[in-house]
Amino acid sequence: MKRQQIAAGNWKMNKNYTEGRQLAKAIADGMDESENLAILGVPATHIKAVSGIVKKVANLEVAAQNCHQAESGAYTGEISVSMIKSVGAKYVILGHSERREYFNEGHELLAAKVNTVLGKRLIPIFCCGEPLAIREAGTHVAHVKKQLEDSLFHLKKNAFSKIIIAYEPIWAIGTGVTASPQQAQDMHKAIRALLADKYGATVADGTSILYGGSVKPANAKEIFGQPDVDGGLVGGASLKAADFLQIIHSF
Ligand code: PEP
Repeated sequence: MKRQQIAAGNWKMNKNYTEGRQLAKAIADGMDESENLAILGVPATHIKAVSGIVKKVANLEVAAQNCHQAESGAYTGEISVSMIKSVGAKYVILGHSERREYFNEGHELLAAKVNTVLGKRLIPIFCCGEPLAIREAGTHVAHVKKQLEDSLFHLKKNAFSKIIIAYEPIWAIGTGVTASPQQAQDMHKAIRALLADKYGATVADGTSILYGGSVKPANAKEIFGQPDVDGGLVGGASLKAADFLQIIHSF
């Protein structure tokens, strides 16, 4: 089964509304219909406008960067999956290391968010990855295995098969340090083996596993060229249209 190859951008808390629309428009204008899927992970305030802009490009979609786990209710300041869906996003980034670290998002909460996103028929882009100390201790596969077990492996096969995984070693996010193509490949292969153990080879082979951590135009081709790397989740380099387009063109 051919896996979907994806270049996803994560704008984080960058770009005001006008700047965001300009960036989305420049990316949409630079994309060719024959290209792989690209996803723009934009601030919630921008989803509706960016969805309108990307509509004319078949292989360009929008993601939210977070959601609340409840369907609705008295949660001042939060945003539900229904709200996200109603303004045109099809994906939700969950479990980003910044949300885990700065907003104390743990395994149980992330499992609840995964359920809510899937329940509304949106697609989670589920982030996992180890801090530097774990990498140096050599226990990174076990660390990521636990993240997957605790927040995803409660899902039945059919539900799990909708998930996109983003492996993002924390030591490579926003640091300029990239995992080597071999390090990325080794981890992606290990993740795919974990998926095969749990859900069988067909699901494992069909799951897109993206690499995130200082992907740039200069390194995207080599990283995306690894057999188990199905694209990238890109932070800093997704904020410049020319750079992100070059990354999209790197497959
Ligand atoms: C990210 O935030 O998911 C990320 C990978 O950031 P960067 O590309 O800037 O390292």
